[in-house]
Amino acid sequence: MSEKLRIALAPGDGIGPEITRACLSIFKAAGVLDQVEFVEVEMGRKVFATGETRGLTDEAVETIEETGILYKGPMGTPIGGGGKSINVTLRKTFGAFANLRHFQTLPGVETVYSQAGVPVDFYVVRENVEDTYGGIEHRLTPDSYVAKRLITTPGCDQICRFAFETATAFGIDKVTCGHKANIMKMTDGTFLDRFRFMAQDYPQIETEDVIIDALCMNLVLRPDKYKMVVLTNLQGDIVSDLAAGLVGGLGFAPSANIGDQISIFEAVHGTAPDIAGQDLANPTSLLLSGLIMLRHIGMRKSAALIENALLYTLEHGIHTGDVKGVGNAVGTSTFAKAIADNLSKNPETIEGCTVPASDELHHTPPVRPSVNEMMVTHEQVQTTVCGCDLFIHTELTPLDLAAKLQRLCESTPFKLTVISNRGTQVWPTGSPYTELVNESCVRFELKEGTVIGQGPTVHLLAKVAEKFTVTEFIPIKMYDGAPGFSLAQGQ
Ligand code: NAD
Repeated sequence: MSEKLRIALAPGDGIGPEITRACLSIFKAAGVLDQVEFVEVEMGRKVFATGETRGLTDEAVETIEETGILYKGPMGTPIGGGGKSINVTLRKTFGAFANLRHFQTLPGVETVYSQAGVPVDFYVVRENVEDTYGGIEHRLTPDSYVAKRLITTPGCDQICRFAFETATAFGIDKVTCGHKANIMKMTDGTFLDRFRFMAQDYPQIETEDVIIDALCMNLVLRPDKYKMVVLTNLQGDIVSDLAAGLVGGLGFAPSANIGDQISIFEAVHGTAPDIAGQDLANPTSLLLSGLIMLRHIGMRKSAALIENALLYTLEHGIHTGDVKGVGNAVGTSTFAKAIADNLSKNPETIEGCTVPASDELHHTPPVRPSVNEMMVTHEQVQTTVCGCDLFIHTELTPLDLAAKLQRLCESTPFKLTVISNRGTQVWPTGSPYTELVNESCVRFELKEGTVIGQGPTVHLLAKVAEKFTVTEFIPIKMYDGAPGFSLAQGQ
């Protein structure tokens, strides 16, 4: 007998173990376990309790790296203390940069849209690694806090390329980019630029872009107009849950985190501690995530058989208690058994999946790289430092602050050009109605356009730091002659 394909399995916390059991029982009935071996790994609440702040053991990391696939239930993040979200840690550590979620109207699941006859069937592709999910935060003054929102060109390229490739593979002919490039011109502006740049390689796919707030309204008004939406991390997180609401809630939203080497398949919802251990949880989200996983490894026949059985079961009014729909609610295990019993059935009220003749296993476990890969998009850009932004903890008025700073920089190559407070210009012009907090951003620019390294800005920092509490220092630069910094509001 040939060797089985190994997949790391983490049942998770709360309802995790019971929905995982339910899904495995369906996989077993469908014959998946004849070809796949699930290797259980330790992560989640029990591991956090041992003081391991990653929430996963070294053995778990080793198994995931070896198999290249993790199928996981939900896991709680300890609130407070040093522990970070295990889900985010996993996606970032293993480079699972693309989050793919499918939102579709399911038979027997009543929603306002199903009642109105509006079919919902679209994908959300969300960048998974960058943005505010770096979790890089600082308290800069007693009153002010900052979170770093990192967007990179290689990160945008990866996710946009993934969206277009997935659309091509799934036969999707329209991709929408959601963004806030009207406000965040450099970060979201780059995301939009790279989306448009990548789109040139896929002329058969129609593209459009929508500002994120308008996208949210449109998704609620006309969800049937969308086929695939690609988004940055935090915006994608919010839109994904909005989309889950359109199709009946989190219990129905599958999620795949795809990387070049390692991919993670998980339920979208959390550990649902309020119903854990009571045989009430809906396993559909984890099951649908499992079906994306089966398709990812080439088991398209098994995935189609299980999906048709799930649709048939829901269609016949068999569902868990969280579902608003016809028929009677049953427990997790009864629901799973019904799906297993319906494995040869096809849905009757909607078109089922076409079942391929056979499974074609094609997953190759990753080969461990000897060094981390460096991703660079712009190789030859002429970069010149032209000044610096200093953030200062001060309660001086803008006029007094400007006078002191102008004296300070007299003997340096820099002049003070603008002071802003919470991003709004307050000097040299501004309105007395602008309310201030005790942190100001002061911008120094070169008196003359001489090209310098960053050394003089560091000397200026040292000079200012003798008199003020500096909370942040950022050299400002020109890239091929274009400014790499934003203007203050009102500037
Ligand atoms: P939650 O998703 O666990 O629960 C929200 C509500 O939805 C609850 O009323 C719950 O009973 C219900 N619900 C969720 N999943 C369900 C299912 N499969 N069937 C039926 N009802 C379901 O969100 P929460 O309460 O905000 O978070 C609880 C814990 O889960 C937290 O520790 C959080 O950090 C964690 N969490 C983990 C993940 C993950 O592992 N991917 C995602 C979100 C939250």
